[in-house]
Amino acid sequence: MRRNPYFSCLLFALVLYAAMPAGAGAASLWTPAELAGRPEEPHPGRLGAPDLSAPERTTPLAVAAALPPELRGSIRRVDTGGEKLVALTFDLCELSDQRAGYDGAIVDYLRAEGVAATFFAGGKWMRSHPERATQLAGDPNFEVGSHAWTHGNFGVLDASRMRQQIAWTQAQYELIRENLDRLARERSCPACADAAPRTIRVFRFPYGRCRAEALDMLASMGIAAVQWDVNMMDAAKTRDASAVTRDVLKNVKPGSIVLGHANGFGHATAEALRSIVPALRAKGYRFVTVSALLAAGRPVASPECFDSRPGDTAVYDAQFGDGTVHPRRK
Ligand SMILES: [Zn+2]
Repeated sequence: MRRNPYFSCLLFALVLYAAMPAGAGAASLWTPAELAGRPEEPHPGRLGAPDLSAPERTTPLAVAAALPPELRGSIRRVDTGGEKLVALTFDLCELSDQRAGYDGAIVDYLRAEGVAATFFAGGKWMRSHPERATQLAGDPNFEVGSHAWTHGNFGVLDASRMRQQIAWTQAQYELIRENLDRLARERSCPACADAAPRTIRVFRFPYGRCRAEALDMLASMGIAAVQWDVNMMDAAKTRDASAVTRDVLKNVKPGSIVLGHANGFGHATAEALRSIVPALRAKGYRFVTVSALLAAGRPVASPECFDSRPGDTAVYDAQFGDGTVHPRRK
């Protein structure tokens, strides 16, 4: 009997698919070498002048319904009724005069351990790191959220600039998502892109700064503001892995949202994760994306954005102004 070559090929693909571990989308679209972080990538750089150019698309195609009441406000954690879920989140900040990095040691470790995580990516960061942004979006264990276009300070920006910071990032994600589709077709695994949402539904305010007008704007666009209740404090240059680990393990509780950085500004982050992840697992915790956490309980939200106490991030208004340019260039 002569076998139909198309059928054989399909069968082979099905066998391969069945043999793939769950969440292997990224692993099937890219080779291990393409996914692996490179030594030069974490190092951030400074641009000679702010890059104010618009993304290729400035108005997102996707239009979402306004947020339901339970998702409004600045979400700090989720009441899971004691279920030991935790969301690790990593910001990928990039100001207009920055070329931020990509900390592959963090992502590689999370992938190797099958740890779910959320990356709040600046829109301009996604544009300057298209390959990495596509890999993050294409990994079923990961979620990509928005961290504004150029790290705007939503305590200071006027309404039109707030809207631009949000909309440009939504539009840039759509371009990344379309890039993922194209790659999946080219690499003969169209289903490998299926797990990635078409649009972003979660947002993190840069500098932990917001105000009622900003929260209302996001809510009207159907985007949830997700801040944190546990800060790795990894942006401080003096932090070492043992201090990060100690503080995270002390503060995490069921439904916690942990803030770290994966743009090269996190210090000791990857090293600390190697202790934090096994220790939390030993305590019975499971790692989930922010969206999965929000769906697993009752979000605990505040009308204000802050780090540990209301008002404690207001200091950034004087230091960073509108937030989009590093102070030394002003
Ligand atoms: Zn940031």
